[in-house]
Amino acid sequence: LNRRLAVFGTTIFAEMSALATRTGAINLGQGFPDTDGPEEIREAAVRALRDGRGNQYPPGPGVPELRTAVAEHQQRWYGLGYDPDSEVLVTAGATEAIAASLLALLEPGDEVVALEPYYDSYAACIAMAGGTRVPVTLRPDAGSGTYHLDVDELRAAVTDRTRLILLNTPHNPTGTVLTRDELSAIAELACERDLLVVTDEVYEHLVFGAEHIPLAGFPGMRERTVTISSAGKTFSFTGWKVGWVTAPAPLVNAVRSAKQFLTYVSSGPFQYAIAEALRLPDSYFHALRTDLEAKRDLLADGLREAGFGVFRPAGTYFVTTDIRPLGEDDGFAFCRALPERCGVVAIPNAVFYDHRDQGAPFVRFAFCKGEQVLAEAVSRLKSLA
Ligand code: PMP
Ligand code: GLN
Repeated sequence: LNRRLAVFGTTIFAEMSALATRTGAINLGQGFPDTDGPEEIREAAVRALRDGRGNQYPPGPGVPELRTAVAEHQQRWYGLGYDPDSEVLVTAGATEAIAASLLALLEPGDEVVALEPYYDSYAACIAMAGGTRVPVTLRPDAGSGTYHLDVDELRAAVTDRTRLILLNTPHNPTGTVLTRDELSAIAELACERDLLVVTDEVYEHLVFGAEHIPLAGFPGMRERTVTISSAGKTFSFTGWKVGWVTAPAPLVNAVRSAKQFLTYVSSGPFQYAIAEALRLPDSYFHALRTDLEAKRDLLADGLREAGFGVFRPAGTYFVTTDIRPLGEDDGFAFCRALPERCGVVAIPNAVFYDHRDQGAPFVRFAFCKGEQVLAEAVSRLKSLA
């Protein structure tokens, strides 16, 4: 294994899910729902398989039905117009979209400014592309129970070598949803310094009382923004690995140039099913949100009662907690011992940091699970006190 990759070891999600399997603990680590997405969409996938749609290589950019549905989705929810033929690209999940975007857009030595903590594939993909990451740390505020972006710090992180900003809102793992003012400041900075922005918006529909605002809609941003999303979160089909990119044609072409040599294409029949999913009525999206909001409350309240410091998320399906009120300060050690101690698996936020010390006392729990499962996990966690 080359040195570029060796430093990243095995992804924490594989390690922690294996620990859950080995110990039989409740897995609130890796984020995946314990209930599959809508029956009618599974039926749509079966129909596509039976009818022979997508069983052979689909077109490189994705099947036209899905590209059209993605463009309609951007118009319907955000009023953003994208041409399905030249401005939409289907990928093997958001993961490939992130990798292909970075591989396509970075020259070796280019700097990428990313909000820290960040989703673990960002660091590895920046490294594979020969880039250098420049983290800007979101600051926890125990008083308000939220994380904040210091826009001045972001501004100061941009240098003459900065090629792009890699953004994520709603934000994994903190659950932060960037506000209109924050996004507006980021947009101004990007325009002023002539930067591209790759924005990972996979949790776009998982917001609770907050509004997700796509960066691409801000003045001057459409032409410099690569927006990434995925069916995994919105439709609870993380195993289907259907993701997409929307961007102006030159940027989509660039991302496609990298993507063609990574997977070429993927998920044939599932692409047809997700095209139908994207057209589900508003009621589907509202129900998803309402259901997850109740689960967030159940887990966040339970964790607080169990003695954790809780950052109540405005989006995603993760709660970040502070373990210092429990007399602990090493999230890694805490997560490795947790299955033995009380039969629950969680993720140490330190893995999402370059400044590991900044993330040390924080631990992430997923709440995309049945209410019984969450209630049982809470009752186990209460035994820690
Ligand atoms: N970005 C973020 C922020 C995520 O949390 C995830 C979840 N796995 C991904 C990207 C990857 O999405 P996908 O499963 O569609 O590859
Ligand atoms: N996005 C999910 C998480 O953050 C799953 C990631 C993965 O398994 N690669 O937990």
